[in-house]
Amino acid sequence: MSDMDCVELAELVTAFLEDALDTTTEQRVVEHLSLCDGCTTYVAQFRSTVERLGHLPADDVAELPEPSRAALLAAFRKKGV
Ligand SMILES: [Zn+2]
Repeated sequence: MSDMDCVELAELVTAFLEDALDTTTEQRVVEHLSLCDGCTTYVAQFRSTVERLGHLPADDVAELPEPSRAALLAAFRKKGV
């Protein structure tokens, strides 16, 4: 089992918020969030987007508002991921 990185987390965030992950993967997500401010912010933004829409976006990050995606990408670049 490898450490989760930010890209993998971004791919899993929809399933994470839907409680659709298996326990091991969910644990890795939680672990990554405890270490990574960028992803914590990303998940918070994603969650508020979902709440505003009233449902999960159909295609996760593709439907995030542009400022959130830009901020996330900037955070990743700063970390050198
Ligand atoms: Zn991260």
